[in-house]
Amino acid sequence: MTYDVIVVGAGLAGLTAALRLSEQDRRVLVIAKGNGATHLAPPVIDVLGYAGDKRIESPQKALSGFVVSHPGHPYANVSADVIAESLDWLSRRVPELGYQGRLDENWLLPTAVGVPKPSALVPESMVAGDLRRGGRFVFIGLRGLKDFHASYLADNLARAQLPARVSTRFIELEPPHDRNADPGSVGFARRFDEPRFRDWIVQALAGQLEPNEKVGFPAVLGIEKAGEVWRDLERRLEHPAFEVPLLPPSAPGIRLYDALARALRQAGARILIGDRVAAGGSEGGRVAEINALTAARPVAYRANSFVLATGGFASGGLELDSRGSVRETVFGLPVAGMPDAGEPMFSPRYFDTHAVSRAGVAVDARLRPVDEKGKVVFENLHAAGAILSGAVPWREHSGNGISLATGYAVAAAILEHAAPRIRVDARD
Ligand SMILES: Cc1cc2nc3c(=O)[nH]c(=O)nc-3n(C[C@H](O)[C@H](O)[C@H](O)COP(=O)(O)OP(=O)(O)OC[C@H]3O[C@@H](n4cnc5c(N)ncnc54)[C@H](O)[C@@H]3O)c2cc1C
Repeated sequence: MTYDVIVVGAGLAGLTAALRLSEQDRRVLVIAKGNGATHLAPPVIDVLGYAGDKRIESPQKALSGFVVSHPGHPYANVSADVIAESLDWLSRRVPELGYQGRLDENWLLPTAVGVPKPSALVPESMVAGDLRRGGRFVFIGLRGLKDFHASYLADNLARAQLPARVSTRFIELEPPHDRNADPGSVGFARRFDEPRFRDWIVQALAGQLEPNEKVGFPAVLGIEKAGEVWRDLERRLEHPAFEVPLLPPSAPGIRLYDALARALRQAGARILIGDRVAAGGSEGGRVAEINALTAARPVAYRANSFVLATGGFASGGLELDSRGSVRETVFGLPVAGMPDAGEPMFSPRYFDTHAVSRAGVAVDARLRPVDEKGKVVFENLHAAGAILSGAVPWREHSGNGISLATGYAVAAAILEHAAPRIRVDARD
């Protein structure tokens, strides 16, 4: 079977492009060797949180200046209007997450280490954590849950530089031991799906909450029944409740993946997870097919257009060898954004800006990979997300924003230049 579009990669960029195309009746195949950063990262969409050391209050206002000073950045190829549209589109497409927010202001959320984090679009289960207007916050620790220490979070947040006064404290709970439960965040999220476990939490907190306090839980408030869990807790505790994003894995990130994958299947797309993709044949400057390297034998898939959404170093879209060369792993595309001669690839401290993190694929205005001279490599190949060169997402707080906006824009670029599909009604 020939597809209209094959998307390589099932992270936020690939799923966004695929869903947009499927909604327009394109036959779409998504193929990926594994899950993307959705399973590790919170589902908050950071568009632009920092420019240098300056915290951004309105990405909308900051973007035009940011793009001028960062001409090779992925945002240079998508207008602020398209970024704003992509945020609205995601909110509508996954109503189960109840996304809230717009491009013109960043929320300010507490993280598990008590550092305030700016983000443009956040699920409803995180909204009450907004620190911009200050207030009283109590954080709930769950003994046995890895990597979440409510006392540490409360203490750090009390010292953070915030636009308004906050008071913080913590309560540590010791949930009943369950020998069969996974002690990680996904295991705890499954326990929250069970009404009996929530009954225990509500009883344990009875009489312990103070007036006007907002109650912060680690982001484990359910997997399959997430909205229901969060609403149930708010109602029974009679206090605003919110989730605090955690270290990987990410239960709310998995909810986003599940919602997008469900929408994709409903729109008729096919999703194959578990197959590594390698380049197949090309004809006349166009990609003709890709090869899926399954356990049994390579399988070739053909399409009219292809989207490369394989992520950066973390997901294997890029590889760095011991001699310092960076390789794009599917098509062997030219890699741009490499450090200048003599510039060190890495900085001494983990959270510093590492020059090599700007490496990736450079693209034209239609998000098609280009070579060193700016020439399009394949007429029908587009790229989106963390595979693109020019960003330092960890420092900028722009990772999911780039993937959402470029995934959305890639679909538009493909639709603009493809013949319209005629929908055939079964009754005709
Ligand atoms: C721990 C963590 C926390 C983060 N926190 C935030 C945050 O708070 N806010 C924010 O905005 N961003 C955050 N980010 C960044 C953000 O999540 C990513 O930048 C973004 O999701 C990348 O999406 P993507 O679709 O471009 O790539 P990925 O999500 O990396 O997906 C790449 C996909 O390509 C597939 N793939 C790769 N190579 C091949 C191949 N050869 N064949 C087949 N498939 C292949 C992978 O299996 C995967 O499905 C975080 C990231 C991590 C890891």
